[in-house]
Amino acid sequence: MSSALMPQPGIMEIALYEGGADKIPGVQQVIKLSSNENPYGPSPRAIEAATRSLAAMHRYPPTDHAELRQAIGDVLGLDPSRLICGAGSDEIIAFLCQAYAGPGDEVLYPEHGFLMYKISALAAGATPVAAPETARRTDVDALLAAATDRTRLVFVANPNNPTGTMVGMEELTRLAEGLPPAALLVLDGAYAEFVDGYDGGAALIDARDNVVMTRTFSKLYGLGGLRIGYGYGPKAVIDVLNRVRGPFNLSQTQQAAATAAIADTDYADYCRAETAKWRDWLAQALEAVGVPSDPSFGNFILARFADAAEAEACDRKLQENGLIVRRVAGYGLPHCLRISIGDEAACRRVAAVIAAFKAAAA
Ligand SMILES: *Cc1c(COP(=O)(O)O)cnc(C)c1O
Repeated sequence: MSSALMPQPGIMEIALYEGGADKIPGVQQVIKLSSNENPYGPSPRAIEAATRSLAAMHRYPPTDHAELRQAIGDVLGLDPSRLICGAGSDEIIAFLCQAYAGPGDEVLYPEHGFLMYKISALAAGATPVAAPETARRTDVDALLAAATDRTRLVFVANPNNPTGTMVGMEELTRLAEGLPPAALLVLDGAYAEFVDGYDGGAALIDARDNVVMTRTFSKLYGLGGLRIGYGYGPKAVIDVLNRVRGPFNLSQTQQAAATAAIADTDYADYCRAETAKWRDWLAQALEAVGVPSDPSFGNFILARFADAAEAEACDRKLQENGLIVRRVAGYGLPHCLRISIGDEAACRRVAAVIAAFKAAAA
């Protein structure tokens, strides 16, 4: 092997992202609650549109995603010319880091923030910086204190994954106003659709030139396997991101499915309502047996245990019963388990297994 072959600085510091598990050795029927997926699946209209698109797979897809951007704009009341689409919002996060951060620059995020911020910052050669949170909640003062004249990007997921907590628009406005002039605030709205009446920060974006948001079809819309996300921001920022975007980054099938999915607002409303109902039911059921969680605004809850050993023991008990949830030690939360909200049967099974686990330990 030639030692002359060297990757760019930072690349070898990247720890590979581990997706949520979907298998348990020796267990036939598992319920996967480890990736915040929609248990009801995508809109039937999205499946139909994707299927129809396949006959044209010999054709290159549209490069400008015009139809999809128009559909998103129509449903959310956003200017389509200030939208950019990507292969999941992960790709928009990567575009942002590639375009705005490089060696010597800092990319800032809260300590329990999404792992892709760190990975994308390192891939761009930039320095990731984590600011402390207060009681598992984004701390705007800590972020402002950690921002320097080298800060180029500040990522805040609202609601946050894996904590499920949220900060209000006054706080986010204060953050946008207080950042150094060379820093862009990125509001990651992967779970924004689960919050009634929340625009993901669109009004703040329209009022300023230093805020963008990322959104996804992977969570509420149930299209995680197809990879579609988007960004919304000031025209100047979207213009920059389009320069690093590959012209054919979204297939015809991705574009067709997402266009149909966002237009099916009845189906989205149904999934949102069911998720909220069973999320709140599960949180109460676990609280009642001594497993608390912060009020969650996403499609998951972060269950807290006495310590890492108890969380791991409970995870093993869940696995024995065919239930896969997410360990979040990698997010600095070794005493917690993140549980995606499944359908009624899945939530009842989780509650029963955790209740039995706690009763056996008592
Ligand atoms: C799931 C998730 C995403 C993005 O997922 P994509 O499938 O790439 O759109 C982004 N941010 C957070 C916080 C997430 O949990």
